[in-house]
Amino acid sequence: MIYDVAVIGGALSGSRTAQLLAEKGKNVLLIEEHFDIGVPCKCTGLVSQRTPEMVKLPKKLIVNKLDKGRFFSPDGTFFELKSKNPAFVIDRPGLDKFIHSNAVDAGVDAKTDHFKTFKRHNSYVDVIGSRGTYQAKVIVGSDGANSLVAQDANLKMPDNIYVGMQTTARGDFEQYAELWFGKEVAPKFFAWLVPENDEVARVGLATPTSPKPYYERFLRNRLKQHDLKPDVAGVIRFGIMKDTVADNVLLVGDAACQVKPFSGGGITYGLIAAEIASDAIVKGLNQGRLDYEFFKKHYDDMWKEKIGPGINRGMLLRNILFTLSDPQMNTLFKTTKLFGHKILSTLDFDLLSG
Ligand SMILES: Cc1cc2nc3c(=O)[nH]c(=O)nc-3n(C[C@H](O)[C@H](O)[C@H](O)COP(=O)(O)OP(=O)(O)OC[C@H]3O[C@@H](n4cnc5c(N)ncnc54)[C@H](O)[C@@H]3O)c2cc1C
Repeated sequence: MIYDVAVIGGALSGSRTAQLLAEKGKNVLLIEEHFDIGVPCKCTGLVSQRTPEMVKLPKKLIVNKLDKGRFFSPDGTFFELKSKNPAFVIDRPGLDKFIHSNAVDAGVDAKTDHFKTFKRHNSYVDVIGSRGTYQAKVIVGSDGANSLVAQDANLKMPDNIYVGMQTTARGDFEQYAELWFGKEVAPKFFAWLVPENDEVARVGLATPTSPKPYYERFLRNRLKQHDLKPDVAGVIRFGIMKDTVADNVLLVGDAACQVKPFSGGGITYGLIAAEIASDAIVKGLNQGRLDYEFFKKHYDDMWKEKIGPGINRGMLLRNILFTLSDPQMNTLFKTTKLFGHKILSTLDFDLLSG
């Protein structure tokens, strides 16, 4: 049997793409290497209201809502942002499980297997896993920041990465997110504390290379604890890829670097791209066009039009902010505290537009 589409990676981007394709009548295979969907978790689970709206997220998967954030400069100066629209702290493994089960309910054939490689034939591709070989007309790589599908399709991913580590801490927490900046805290990124409630918070950071010493120091300084094992770890890859499509191939989510370069957030962008990808694939299957040019025009160009400007603004912001010295950052934060926070509080944090 030849599937219309084989989706590799059953986290949110892959499961959502598979779900939408099945709902549009396509015959879809979804391959995920982990039996327990969403685990191990690689995410803080902080999203704008777009995510719950887009997937109609059940209330039980919303852990907290935060309408304030404190941004700390290296000398401890902070400014506070109060947003009209709260940010949502979600159960991230729960989100992946929810979308995956929606995909299965829509008729997707979900299998546990490790994707190894694919081979093109005239009218289909062989998708080769550890447990079997499957045939499909199109392959979607939603296999994350170190995508094997991208590698096999010769789609060059950027070398820019952050490595993140996070733990779940107990303590006495106020109900705002904290972001801590500075070369001693988390060079070229930031450390965060995101409360689940008054007593539990997700605490972590990311850096371009090994985050462990910074992670331990941050826990010591902020929580007076240093021996909390990370329960979340992962790579964030960012920057615009020249191509996220090839003949019979599309990349979605982290595999396509659809990630905010400033915050490392990829949930909303992955879900937006899943919609565009599923539309393009349905069109391609119906018109018998599964080639590079077709997917370039109907997917790659389209997602870049929608979220590319946000990614470019995020790149600019990080390039400016993360090249500042600690004293320059202290001055910037003091100025923002006095004048800038009103502008920032009206910002759309997904698309970095007003
Ligand atoms: C520490 C950290 C904190 C983060 N916090 C946030 C946040 O607060 N908000 C936010 O929006 N984003 C956050 N992100 C980013 C977010 O986690 C990603 O953008 C998101 O997970 C992307 O989803 P995805 O489905 O594209 O890829 P992934 O979640 O990486 O899923 C890829 C899936 O593919 C599977 N897979 C991989 N290789 C294979 C293979 N060969 N065969 C079969 N299956 C395979 C994996 O098991 C996995 O299930 C964070 C990232 C990190 C590292």
